[in-house]
Amino acid sequence: MFDSLTEKFDSVFKKLRGHGRLSEENIRDALREVRLVLLEADVNYKVVKDFVASVTARAVGQDVLKSLTPAQQVIKVVRDELGLLMGEGEDNSLDLAARPPVSIMLCGLQGAGKTTTCGKLALKLRKEKRNPLLVPADVYRPAAIEQLKTVGRQIGIPVYDTQPGQDPVAICEAARHFADLNGYDTLILDTAGRLHIDQELMGELSRIKASLDPREILFVADAMTGQDAVTVAKAFDELLNITGVVLTKLDGDARGGAALSIRAVTGKPVKLVGMGEKLDALETFHPDRMAQRILG
Ligand code: GDP
Repeated sequence: MFDSLTEKFDSVFKKLRGHGRLSEENIRDALREVRLVLLEADVNYKVVKDFVASVTARAVGQDVLKSLTPAQQVIKVVRDELGLLMGEGEDNSLDLAARPPVSIMLCGLQGAGKTTTCGKLALKLRKEKRNPLLVPADVYRPAAIEQLKTVGRQIGIPVYDTQPGQDPVAICEAARHFADLNGYDTLILDTAGRLHIDQELMGELSRIKASLDPREILFVADAMTGQDAVTVAKAFDELLNITGVVLTKLDGDARGGAALSIRAVTGKPVKLVGMGEKLDALETFHPDRMAQRILG
């Protein structure tokens, strides 16, 4: 994960450690390089600008210069600020505390990993002793309904019986009624995706939101698509007021731009990360551990 980013940080910090004593100029030079490393990793330019300003404010000071290990101190400041950038210290747990059945709505572009993540989430919630029901609300692609049914079979979790062409809002409402009658406490709604944002889809998602009042609205973002994922997340958030983000494909060779920018740009926390195609490859997101990993 983020191998190239880690390598580049490593070479910047090696240089910094190589100086006998550090001058303020050495630190400023290193932070200029940090800026380039982040831009090359496809981090949003404004996020980079604010990040470097915060790090500079903390790292260029007498305390750091006078310390016994100034290079280590600078690296620590970068690590801390990376953690803060990704939401360190904020609550990013799923909030399902409401009268059941509660709904979790997953949304995002086609191919981002929604259907897979629905299955992963169902498995995770069952391990936490909940009783989830999967709901296919993508009625435009019959293959999408079949895909969710296959996922459900693999993990032994029921999938609400949906037919192509039904109204997605009606499906979700009927599924909630079914869940209520049959003791399912959590509905996981797999909504339709498109290749690009389009008004019709956004209208449909708004109607599902208005009707089901989901406790969580999670935007599923493909980490491999970098800043594009961030731009799309912002658009979904403006319309749906999402409650969090699931970053998928972090097991791939994503450059880091999405992971490092998405919280700062949307103001919404990354709650979960997809670490593979298998249905148990969903993890809670820990900003501090991620910052540590990025710095190697
Ligand atoms: P949807 O169109 O948003 O429902 O996306 P899918 O769930 O169909 O996923 C699209 C592709 O991404 C599939 O081939 C998935 O196996 C793959 N995928 C989803 N999540 C992950 C992940 O975390 N890691 C990897 N490597 N692949 C993933």
